[in-house]
Amino acid sequence: MPIDPKLPYDNDNIFARILRGELPCSKVYEDDHALAFNDIRPQAPVHVLVIPKAPFVSWDDFTAKASDAQIAGFMRAVGEVTRQLELDQPGYRLMVNMGGHGHQEVAHLHVHIFGGRQFFHMIA
Ligand code: C5P
Repeated sequence: MPIDPKLPYDNDNIFARILRGELPCSKVYEDDHALAFNDIRPQAPVHVLVIPKAPFVSWDDFTAKASDAQIAGFMRAVGEVTRQLELDQPGYRLMVNMGGHGHQEVAHLHVHIFGGRQFFHMIA
């Protein structure tokens, strides 16, 4: 079920618990701003999620409330992950689902990185 992005941040959401080390993840990258790990239900040969190390419910919440330094640090981290995975050639896809119509299921901002195959016009 999609989340309601207007609800306050839930400290017990699954990605908050991964950040606190209470639940395991298959980590691919970590720095001061972000943690990246393999999606448990991969939709492509490479399917990595990048999450900020701060409590933002959604892309909307993040872009409204995060500091410039948090936004820059997080965006840089997404780029670091794609470079470390050597996805730049032949390319990759980024996706953020936001709220109900975006079918966001976890109430902690996450950027999906898809790679390792050819993508077409849209993911339905
Ligand atoms: O963008 P959306 O919220 O729909 O995506 C959530 C993603 O989190 C899904 O791709 C799901 O497979 C992934 N997930 C995960 N590990 C969990 C719970 C969900 O990788 N423990």
